[in-house]
Amino acid sequence: MENVIIIGSGCAGLTAALYTARANLNPLVITGRMQGGLLTTTTIVENYPGFVEGIDGYQLMMNMQQQAERFGARIRSLATVESVELGARPFAVTVDGERIEAQTIIIATGAGHRHLGIESEHLLENKGVTYCATCDGALPMFRNKPLVVIGGGDSACEEALYLTRFGSVVHLIHRRDALRASKIMADRVLAHPKIKPVWNSEVVEILDVAKDEVTGVRVRDTVTGAETTIDCAGVFIAIGLVPNTALFKGVIDMDESGYIKPVEGGKTNVPGVFVAGDCADKVFRQAITAAGMGCMAAIDCERYLMGGH
Ligand code: NAP
Repeated sequence: MENVIIIGSGCAGLTAALYTARANLNPLVITGRMQGGLLTTTTIVENYPGFVEGIDGYQLMMNMQQQAERFGARIRSLATVESVELGARPFAVTVDGERIEAQTIIIATGAGHRHLGIESEHLLENKGVTYCATCDGALPMFRNKPLVVIGGGDSACEEALYLTRFGSVVHLIHRRDALRASKIMADRVLAHPKIKPVWNSEVVEILDVAKDEVTGVRVRDTVTGAETTIDCAGVFIAIGLVPNTALFKGVIDMDESGYIKPVEGGKTNVPGVFVAGDCADKVFRQAITAAGMGCMAAIDCERYLMGGH
């Protein structure tokens, strides 16, 4: 019987592991297939406090893991949770065919970027196609070049505004003729001289797979069906995130988009089950906020096991 199983190994999960390990709870971390979480896919992280020159995202996550392990956290690498039993205590998770019982569970499964789902997007990922302007926008390959942002929400607007610092022009391609973003963000975007909205348009192909780099996008007008090409050196896809919460549907309270609703601090509606990070946060989504939530979930978990609430 485990004291606590932590599902997920991003900033939230590994911070929860550090805190529960230091509380002598000997936590078991099930990393999932992307060990270290989304941050491992980025280059330099400049906004995580404590690193004056920034730190490589992968390195930051490996550091977090080693720090948690130093205090006794056990890491089940690349293991995937197939199902959970949260209806009665002890809880149980099935990991790659093995059923493991636990007194408490911390859910830190994160969120993934929604993808367009076209083949060229997949083939050119990290070769000019990215899902994070704040991570990659400052790369030399994008400097003073035309850039494309896809999406019409706050994230797309934020990315487009950020990228005006680096690109020569930012084409904001949206599938409708009105932004979904909040008015203040939309107004800022539409007033910016370097941002060119491309309305009623969907990207059908990212060019050029043969050259193994991004040279442009092929865009279809959703009203007329006409296709055009826009030259660009980078494609920033910001069409929303998808929380990784399917496992918990029907048991753990979540909103209509699948984000888990914390009850208070790191607690969920099921006593003994806690939550942290992007699977419960559609607003901030930062490494540092996920780490903070991981800390809160761990402290709540520790208090619960001590017989508090
Ligand atoms: P979002 O609000 O869900 O917007 C996603 C956008 O992508 C929508 O414009 C949507 O088009 C478009 N889209 C979705 N699937 C698409 C597809 N397959 N192909 C092309 N376009 C597609 O997501 P978000 O912008 O990531 O924001 C999520 C939440 O975080 C929101 O609540 C937002 O307010 C918040 N947020 C706030 C800030 C801020 O306040 N500074 C910053 C970032 C995020 P449609 O409009 O046609 O549906």
